[in-house]
Amino acid sequence: MDNFNYKKSLGQNFLQDINVLTNIVKSANIKDNSLTIEVGPGSGNLTKEIAKVSNQVLCYEIDTRLEMILDKNLVEYKNIDIIFDDFLKRDIRSDIEKYEYDNLYLVANLPYYITTPIIQKVIDSNLPFKQLTIMIQKEVGERFNAKPGTKEYNSLTAYLNYYFDLKKEFIVSRNCFIPKPNVDSIVISLVKKENLLPLKNPKHFDKLLRDSFKFKRKTLKNNLKNYDLEKIEKVLKEHNFTLTTRAEEIPMEVFVSISNSLN
Ligand code: SAM
Repeated sequence: MDNFNYKKSLGQNFLQDINVLTNIVKSANIKDNSLTIEVGPGSGNLTKEIAKVSNQVLCYEIDTRLEMILDKNLVEYKNIDIIFDDFLKRDIRSDIEKYEYDNLYLVANLPYYITTPIIQKVIDSNLPFKQLTIMIQKEVGERFNAKPGTKEYNSLTAYLNYYFDLKKEFIVSRNCFIPKPNVDSIVISLVKKENLLPLKNPKHFDKLLRDSFKFKRKTLKNNLKNYDLEKIEKVLKEHNFTLTTRAEEIPMEVFVSISNSLN
């Protein structure tokens, strides 16, 4: 990798520390008969570790300059397929159709510039992922875990907490990467909740959350002007909130009730 021209625009910070790589894979809890998806294999350092424990690995890498490097580094592993394309443009469901597996995972050191779109895509795919184990920017990870009433709590926090049990696994220093990024990282795992709260319309729930948090300093009344405010007020009252509350105070469960009341 000595002469490789890393592209900052593609979030190319490659993880060098073998202990961190093996710990990520340990945190992923990969069980028998598994298919694991990796977004952004880079030079294949994490891919190798995944391939040691997962029956099959499917990677998506946008940068075709990495093809020869990956071929060379992963030559010993026969259970890895790589699609050279933008993960965000793929139909994951049809890409994994040909595989037979009981347990589906995603493990990735994500390109940080598209952390949210990748997670959103994975959720929208509605595929039965058992666990997502991702390395992301530390500050973003803190936000995912934030509680209502704190300034880090946002629409994505509420959204993720609807679908997953989140766990902070460990912090990774910026010194473990080449090139060295300006921020530290965190590995988090997201385990699909067994019993999701009934939700009439997931797309509506997503939109409601985005609209509620649109202007952080505004109240729900102002952010949700185009909604049926009477219905919303009724649900809020039942939970001891009002229309003049800000979205960051509202627990995910209350957003679920509001969304259901509007459908
Ligand atoms: N897995 C390697 C590691 O852990 O060292 C590399 C991780 S690096 C943070 C992110 C990788 O994602 C890079 O290889 C980059 O080229 C790739 N990438 C960036 N955008 C992508 C996209 N839209 N689809 C697929 N891969 C992408």
